[in-house]
Amino acid sequence: MILTDEQKSIKEAARRFSRERLLPTYQQRELDGHLDRSLIREIGRLGFIGVDLPVELGGLGLDGVTAGLITEELGYGDFNIASTVVVAALLSAIIARDAKPEIAQHWVPAIVRGEAIVALAITEPKGGSDAANMQLKAHQDGGNFILNGEKTSVTFSDTADAFLVFARTGQQEDGAKGVSAFLIPSNTQGISTTRFDDLGGVCLGRGSVFFDNVVVPESYSVGGIGKGFTQVMVGFDFSRALIALQCLGAAQASLDEAWSYVKEREAFGIPIGQFQGVSFPLAEAESQIAAIRQLSYHTLQLRDAGQKHTAEAAMVKWMGPRTAFDVIHQCLLTFGHYGWTKDLPHQQRMRDVMGLEIGDGTACVMKLIIARERIGRVAIQY
Ligand SMILES: Cc1cc2nc3c(=O)[nH]c(=O)nc-3n(C[C@H](O)[C@H](O)[C@H](O)COP(=O)(O)OP(=O)(O)OC[C@H]3O[C@@H](n4cnc5c(N)ncnc54)[C@H](O)[C@@H]3O)c2cc1C
Repeated sequence: MILTDEQKSIKEAARRFSRERLLPTYQQRELDGHLDRSLIREIGRLGFIGVDLPVELGGLGLDGVTAGLITEELGYGDFNIASTVVVAALLSAIIARDAKPEIAQHWVPAIVRGEAIVALAITEPKGGSDAANMQLKAHQDGGNFILNGEKTSVTFSDTADAFLVFARTGQQEDGAKGVSAFLIPSNTQGISTTRFDDLGGVCLGRGSVFFDNVVVPESYSVGGIGKGFTQVMVGFDFSRALIALQCLGAAQASLDEAWSYVKEREAFGIPIGQFQGVSFPLAEAESQIAAIRQLSYHTLQLRDAGQKHTAEAAMVKWMGPRTAFDVIHQCLLTFGHYGWTKDLPHQQRMRDVMGLEIGDGTACVMKLIIARERIGRVAIQY
């Protein structure tokens, strides 16, 4: 893909920051087990969050491709910090577009500055893939809504400053049409949270969020009563392309480290990179990453041009994490017994990347979306 001069210089700035500030401490952040909020503010000050948002809301008014370039570079240095930027991109875009202007003015600039973290609360204990079948209830009481129920698997469960919560305001049989979204500060009375002991993404924290008679004004609704679900699904097409690039960034880091290693490490008197059994899997990995990268940026270009990109986004969302996992696994093996220690980052990258084979929709769900785009709703009617 040919980049503009502006895209090249932003990519270069993100690349330098990621390799100098993030990569050396990637594993330490997992050991610390909490999100370094000052680092997120620093990323905000550098202008890496929400670049495609309008200038009036704190963004740079740039394109989605530039957001992708930043995400890929940050993913190279720290997959989890890149996750923070992807969630911020998804949610700030939805809030900017669909929240009441005064609510958007309050939250979006704070997200872009890295000062506020908003979490997405869709999944419930009874299921995530069939997201429209949610049970958490919001019933109207005059000008307020009262929420009761549980969300689970929420990234940033115990660190978020606010939750974008999807709740049932209509009847269960209304499906997606009876769902509304509310942007709710996390310190609102009646909210409590837990944190899971996860395999990856440890510094982000994922857990359940409980709503016990949580009262919110109608003005906190995002996208209109009964229209919340459709609004957020449109936003996912953007974050899916970013997630793919985030995963490819992490895979490229392991791949670059593996290429350096195979030039130095010797077996049978020669560098192991001279064995095609070693170099060919890495060459195949380069090829796969390059192909998915191109499709990811093509997806973002379609978005920037205002064209439909739902199928493309679903394609890269399942292929990106899956391929990144396989590539990192291959790199780990290339390091022989050193790869099996926690001293090297490959094991952490594998665990971190694997989370996004599930999060934001599994590969099966992505394939259902692709099928629906090709043959219509018949592909998903059971
Ligand atoms: C790291 C991580 C971060 C997450 N962050 C968030 C977050 O911030 N906010 C949030 O709301 N959720 C979040 N989630 C939850 C995530 O979106 C759900 O886990 C996901 O949508 C799958 O839902 P489920 O776990 O209930 O699995 P289920 O829906 O129970 O699915 C179980 C299995 O069945 C398969 N399956 C289900 N239906 C079909 C079908 N029709 N055809 C074929 N196969 C099918 C699935 O592919 C899966 O393998 C996160 C999850 C992870 C792992």
